[in-house]
Order: sequence, then C-alpha cells, then structure tokens
Amino acid sequence: MYEIPVTLTQNPKKKPEDESKLGFGKIFTDHMFVMDYEVGRGWYDARVVPYGPFVMDPATTVFHYAQEIFEGMKCYRRQDGGLQLFRPRDNFERMNRSAARMGMPAVDVEQVLAGLIALLKADADWVPSAPGTSLYIRPTMIATDVMLGVHASHNYRFYIICSPSGAYYPKGLAPVGIYVEPELVRAVKGGVGFTKTGGNYAASILAGELAKQKGYEQVLWLDGRENKYIEEVGAMNMFFKINGTLVTPPLLGSILGGITRDSIIKLAKHMNLPVEERSLTVQDVFDAAERGELEEAFGSGTAAVVSPVGRLAWNDKEITISGGEIGAYTQKFYDMLTGIQFGSVQDPFDWVLKID
Ligand SMILES: *Cc1c(COP(=O)(O)O)cnc(C)c1O
Repeated sequence: MYEIPVTLTQNPKKKPEDESKLGFGKIFTDHMFVMDYEVGRGWYDARVVPYGPFVMDPATTVFHYAQEIFEGMKCYRRQDGGLQLFRPRDNFERMNRSAARMGMPAVDVEQVLAGLIALLKADADWVPSAPGTSLYIRPTMIATDVMLGVHASHNYRFYIICSPSGAYYPKGLAPVGIYVEPELVRAVKGGVGFTKTGGNYAASILAGELAKQKGYEQVLWLDGRENKYIEEVGAMNMFFKINGTLVTPPLLGSILGGITRDSIIKLAKHMNLPVEERSLTVQDVFDAAERGELEEAFGSGTAAVVSPVGRLAWNDKEITISGGEIGAYTQKFYDMLTGIQFGSVQDPFDWVLKID
C-alpha cells in the first residue's frame, strides 16, 4: 500500500558485541525513517535513509518554542528469532492526540507504521536477542519553520530513530524508592500533561535531580491545583493495590495515558482483579498503609514495563510497601506483559504485530 523508498547505508556501523552493556538510548542503528510536511502540501518524501545529523538553521522554531512531540515503543525479538511490535498503532494514535494539542499536523497511522516496518527490516540485525533486551523506537515530530514569531509552524519533520537497549532489570525485577514532590508541579488540567511533548520533561528535570540527591530514584507528581491528588511518576503511570482492588488515577488531561497502563487495566479485568480508575490523594495512600491495606504499588511504562515501589516518601514520612519486596500482582503483570511482548505467552488481546 505504502511504498517507502529505502536508501541503505554504505558505511554500516559496528554493532555492539556485548548485549549486557547496551544501557539505554546511547547507541543508534544504521538507518532512520524521515518525512516532511508543508501546509497545503501535506506529508511528503517519506523515506528510509542512513542515520545521520540534521543540519538546521539556529532560528528553527523547535529550538525556541519547543513545538515538539515524541513517542516511545519497542521492537522485541522472539525466541524463534522473529521480530514483533506491541500495540504500535496505539502509539501513533496517541502521537496524533499530542499533535492536535500542540497545533501540529496528524500523521497517517498506516503510513508511519509502514515506514517503521521498512526501517526495522533495514535494521533487523540491530534488534538484540539477550533476555530482556529490545530495540527502543523513538518517533519524533518537530516544527521546522525558520522564524522567531510565535505561531504554528508551516513546516514539520517527522522521523523515527532506533536504539538497541539493555534489559531494564538485568538482575530481575527490583523495587525503587519514590519521592512525592511537595511543591513543584509537572502539569495542570487544560495544559499539555496528556501529550508526550519535550517541555513536560524539561519541567521535570530539576525535581528529578533533587529527588536523586535525597536518595530516591523517581519523583511522584501531585496535581497542580490542590497539590494532593496523585498524578504519575516520571515516565510511568501509577497503580496501587488497596484492600484487594487495583486503583489508578483517571485520565483527566494532566497525565499521560500510558499504553502499559491501559494493558494492565485490561489484564486485571481478564484476571478478575477489581480495578478502579479514580482520583486518590497521597494522604489516602498513607492512610491505607497505616490500616495495613496498602498491598502493592508500582509504576507502569514501556521502558520498565512495571516498576515495583518499595519505599514512598512524602514530606517527613516514609512508608515501606510490600515489605520492600515485589508484590505478587506486580510480578504477575510483569510476567504476563513481557511474556506477550516477547512472544512466550499467548496474546489473547491481539496486541502483538509480527513483522517477520
Ligand atoms: C511515556 C509515558 C508514560 C508511559 O506510557 P507507556 O505508553 O506506557 O510507555 C507515562 N507517563 C509519562 C509522562 C510518559 O511520558
């Protein structure tokens, strides 16, 4: 349906030999998918080309006003050597929701998926195969007008780059310590919190550094209006298991609707575990802990899949959750999701797209 011209590199890079040292986001494959947009013309020149720098004028809009959106997904290598994606259309549909809020053009989901598949075929050998490793995929859209006026750009570039990434938990699932940020906020209702746009992350970096200095791995954000409702963590949505029910904050505009979050809600229903999307305060969580009803807490996102929370700190208080160990359901969600993603567990939801 979509013919994507492919120009293969004449200078292939050396692939990393030791897959236990891949880390995250530092090595890039030999190719990238690129296409450009102009108002009145639409998207044009969709192509797979050798990976390389863009030369851009210093006045390019994206550098000044951050009209930029991105996505994050992975390509997994199955035991039989084949490759597969997990819910890729959901990522591109979410990107279109981000685009609409940021005054940027929508992409044709089937076209960019065809572009991604053409790219993955060119770079198939870059998908690692050691347990837990994968190829991280970063679709990005930037405003490319050269001008300093603040208005929607007339030109955009969409591109996809890929990075082989190491196992998030090389030594098995491990609980993290999380710091509830008491003052700084990430997003507000009516703003851009539900979009994957660079500015949200720029706004979060300082709090992340402060939490690290205090000895915590991640920041838990509270709502921007009353500073009491739980929103999300860094690049993860939050789940709490309280008295037998899984609770996660609802999508009211200030938090990112994670595809992992949605998958866990569907898995919980499939497992007959009661699940509620409802607002809850950090006080509710500490109260539940005091009553002995806070059974598990974890974050969810593409990078870690699930990240068990062992310690939660808020002002001068700190609680330990699941005795600092991994909760039983946390482990179950991790095993089921990674099993489906890597193709070792049957996929009853039609989430997986095999690409060879
Ligand atoms: C990407 C992201 C998530 C997780 O989304 P997934 O689709 O599950 O990877 C959660 N919160 C924020 C702020 C994010 O950027």
